[in-house]
Amino acid sequence: MKLSRRSFIKLVGATGAGLSLTQWGFNVQPIEAASNECRIQRAKEYTSICNFCSCGCGMICHVKDGKLINLEGDPDHIINEGALCSKGASQWEVANSDQRGVTPLYRAPGSDHWEEIDWDTAVEKIAQKMKDAREENWISEETVDGKTYKVNRTDAIGFLGGAQINNEECYLFTKMSRALGASFLEHQARV
Ligand code: SF4
Repeated sequence: MKLSRRSFIKLVGATGAGLSLTQWGFNVQPIEAASNECRIQRAKEYTSICNFCSCGCGMICHVKDGKLINLEGDPDHIINEGALCSKGASQWEVANSDQRGVTPLYRAPGSDHWEEIDWDTAVEKIAQKMKDAREENWISEETVDGKTYKVNRTDAIGFLGGAQINNEECYLFTKMSRALGASFLEHQARV
């Protein structure tokens, strides 16, 4: 049987507690019943990555009825091995905050207020603006010290990645920026 580190710790903990209590004559049934009422029971478990800094600590998230009900460090994660700093541990509050923005906001040119728009409209607007910026600011050649080079790039678009983006997503993100001809590519953790 192949056991992950997390499963091993759970198993050892459960077995150890069961042995020591029954050995001393305790009735463990009420304890078992109480553990079955655990608040993460029937919650769906997901892994995620903390977005606050470049360490990229791994997290386990429990979601029930579409709501994050528990968040803890992932003991199987190579970076944090189950630990989270205060910022990472407080991310539970971020996800459940009533001040969290969940809808795109748009402020029209000249307007003094933001209005909620749907995601399709927001993506459409961003795509159109990127296309316009790229076409209006395309640099095909550059002359340095009297020599002209083909450069094919735009300096009008910059990409900023975040710590929650994993390696594979970073790869795609970089590919997309290069394909668009954008040379300014940065990471939030370096800013
Ligand atoms: S838990 Fe703390 S150390 Fe880890 S990525 Fe988040 S902010 Fe950084």
